[in-house]
Amino acid sequence: MHRSHRTDLQADVLVVGAGLTGSAVAWKLAERGRSVIVVDRDVPASAHGSSHGSARIFRYPYPDPLYTRLVVDAAAQWDDLERRTGRPLVTRCGGVDYGDVRDPVHLAGVLRDAGVDHELMSPTTAQDRWPFLSFRGPHESTPVLWHPGAGVIDAEATVRAQQAEAVRGGALFLDHWTVSSVRRLGGTRTGYSVISASGSTIEAGQVVIAAGGWVNDVLATTELPDNFLRRLPTAQVSEEYAYHFPYRDSAADWPTTINLTRELQVYSLPGGRDAGGRGQKVAVYNAGRKMNSAAHQDGVVDATNRTLVVDYVRRNMPGLVPEPYAETTCLFTTLPNDDFLIDGTDGITVVSPCSGHGAKFAPLIGDLVAGLVTGRSTVPEQFRAPANPGHRRETHHPVPDDRV
Ligand SMILES: Cc1cc2nc3c(=O)[nH]c(=O)nc-3n(C[C@H](O)[C@H](O)[C@H](O)COP(=O)(O)OP(=O)(O)OC[C@H]3O[C@@H](n4cnc5c(N)ncnc54)[C@H](O)[C@@H]3O)c2cc1C
Repeated sequence: MHRSHRTDLQADVLVVGAGLTGSAVAWKLAERGRSVIVVDRDVPASAHGSSHGSARIFRYPYPDPLYTRLVVDAAAQWDDLERRTGRPLVTRCGGVDYGDVRDPVHLAGVLRDAGVDHELMSPTTAQDRWPFLSFRGPHESTPVLWHPGAGVIDAEATVRAQQAEAVRGGALFLDHWTVSSVRRLGGTRTGYSVISASGSTIEAGQVVIAAGGWVNDVLATTELPDNFLRRLPTAQVSEEYAYHFPYRDSAADWPTTINLTRELQVYSLPGGRDAGGRGQKVAVYNAGRKMNSAAHQDGVVDATNRTLVVDYVRRNMPGLVPEPYAETTCLFTTLPNDDFLIDGTDGITVVSPCSGHGAKFAPLIGDLVAGLVTGRSTVPEQFRAPANPGHRRETHHPVPDDRV
């Protein structure tokens, strides 16, 4: 069911946001027999959010083995979603990780322990295998990691697929329905009254906030206990820039790449349907303009960033013409340690699984949140708000992570 406006509806659970996260949560809750309404200030996979377009990296290596294990779990969920949808959502092309800070040797150990197929090779071997990349430079003595299971996620098609599964389970999606406040129901009734900017009301037993870069705004208008709010880590929003460079040889098999050196953190991937799919999407990780809310984005690409990426491509990706034929902005919502947040109290669950690398976990996040909301299962402790915000967890790895 899909309608543009309704008033005075009721549901077991109201989900705020119809991106990769909200649509996954709706699917998994509907599957568990809950009545679900999903509202979005725009439309599912909004062009102003984080889940639009067709190109996100799916990959296994993480310095922190927890995330690699979760990718393994997520892969089974992707297979399930693709079976239901009858079309590929992740196109496997393999991934190359290199650069001294990326620490391919450590990552290979994590993959080995998780049983993920991979190969560690010398930069010379890598250069022969991928002549359209350059493995020279500060990292030329560091081994290169290849794993064939990496691929490109079609983010927007995934949102549609998850939405279709949710709707099949009875969920209702409302577009252009902006949540302006979430208030407790009065008297002896439990649950919440969710009010839109235009004054419509929906009553729900529970609320899941999956509002991406607007999470701080929605939290500010939600009735939550102070002691819970105080524990929540602050989400930082950044408007990221990505560029599409044409392939010199359109027949070459381009992998996803992550190149981390002390100077720069660069990721790239075949561009999918985005910008016509005739090139590689390249970006510097987490280099965008910082803000506390998606409301402050302006959609303008930073000229200095563009010059930096063009220069990188000229020096390090000889198989690309160093002139972008398309560019885009997109929102990262980042938490300390680049972790995710899945936690709640009193029937409100806050979900912020972006930190620049959340797409690959989408169906799994839906499952984790549905388990928490229904009280059937719990989530990794690392994703809960710290009991004592003064004592934040340390990262498991002493170097910056790419987290794409
Ligand atoms: C440039 C870029 C590259 C990325 N690359 C990768 C990658 O390679 N690999 C990877 O795994 N991940 C990647 N990610 C991360 C991934 O895309 C995100 O984790 C994911 O899209 C987050 O989805 P979301 O549903 O949480 O947020 P969003 O998609 O932003 O959804 C939030 C929704 O909430 C709605 N909303 C907000 N406020 C309200 C309100 N008041 N009322 C109603 N609705 C509201 C918004 O309209 C929006 O549709 C990347 C992200 C970006 C931006």
